[in-house]
Amino acid sequence: MADTVNTTLDPQLNRRGFLKGITMAAAALGMSDAVIPKMVEAAASGERPRVIWLHFQECTGCTESLLRSSHPDLARLILDIISLDYHETVMAAAGHQAEHNLHDTVQNHPFILVVEGAIPTKENGIHCMIAGKTAMEILAEVAPKASAIIAIGTCATYGGVQAAAPNPTGAVGVQELVDKPVVNISGCPPNPVSFLGTILHYLTFNRLPELDKLGRPKFAYGRRIHDHCERRAHFDEGRFVEQFGDEFHKLGYCLYKVGCKGPETFSNCPAVRFNDVDVWPVSVGHGCIGCTEPNFWDTMTPFYERLPQVKIPGTGIVADADSIGKKVIGVTAAAVGVHAAVGIGKGLIKGKGGSDEA
Ligand code: SF4
Ligand code: SF4
Repeated sequence: MADTVNTTLDPQLNRRGFLKGITMAAAALGMSDAVIPKMVEAAASGERPRVIWLHFQECTGCTESLLRSSHPDLARLILDIISLDYHETVMAAAGHQAEHNLHDTVQNHPFILVVEGAIPTKENGIHCMIAGKTAMEILAEVAPKASAIIAIGTCATYGGVQAAAPNPTGAVGVQELVDKPVVNISGCPPNPVSFLGTILHYLTFNRLPELDKLGRPKFAYGRRIHDHCERRAHFDEGRFVEQFGDEFHKLGYCLYKVGCKGPETFSNCPAVRFNDVDVWPVSVGHGCIGCTEPNFWDTMTPFYERLPQVKIPGTGIVADADSIGKKVIGVTAAAVGVHAAVGIGKGLIKGKGGSDEA
């Protein structure tokens, strides 16, 4: 296996970086260490799947996040285990050569389709045109021939900011327009490890990972942020930041009252974190804005106002953080101070309208 790894891969991607990336992806997938050799073998087999990466209505932030992360081995690993035949941002080809590459892959080879960006549907899709064709037309040409389809980022999965009310261009996610299963790797941007894990799962097991009811891989979106947040104990005990910069903010209390949407958001951010420096928004003092959820620009705004209600499982109580605080004060203020609490809501907090199975 060592020889295969060392001779197949980009020389800039050393064996240590390669194994680190695979191990990160395996951990994100919830795989045991026993599976890592199989994943390594699949990734280093030299049979790199061809990938067509289409850009539609978006800011290219997902590509930037994926390829220019502070973890260069991760970007190299992704580029090394796939053959990126067409990607408008990073490919060297332009004009007719680029179009030739696209059509050659679509017509003559199996490929994975990755879509970044929403697809506008109003006025026959004229709000996004590339090489004289609308995004709708390009998707209709390419998607039916893809062996797998991955929508990356919240724009491609659910329409993103383009689809925010009043959605002037009629923007939708990929799954609204194709008849095949679509893997939705949502987020603004999504964590590169979730994309890498999906690709490695496909390479290793020859099938896509299990998806939730919104088309997201369960390995990455199967848990509510709130349920594995390091500030959760503060929430349960009624200790909240009242405004950014106050003494409770400095103490690392829960960010629910300043707008954290973690109780209604499903993602692996607290576990996988970002940029190889072991941080995520909540760990550095900013609430989650719910970017992995459909229509979050409409449903999670204003970003700095609290969610109107939370459910406390096992109690039937529906309460906002203020009423939790009042109950808390009545019981335990003398012992632990105005922002401390007995363990009301010790169980898992569930957001409105969600389901446990995500
Ligand atoms: S509300 Fe936000 S900061 Fe507070 S525990 Fe939940 S996810 Fe963490
Ligand atoms: S913490 Fe929330 S807003 Fe930030 S990336 Fe994760 S899901 Fe998106």
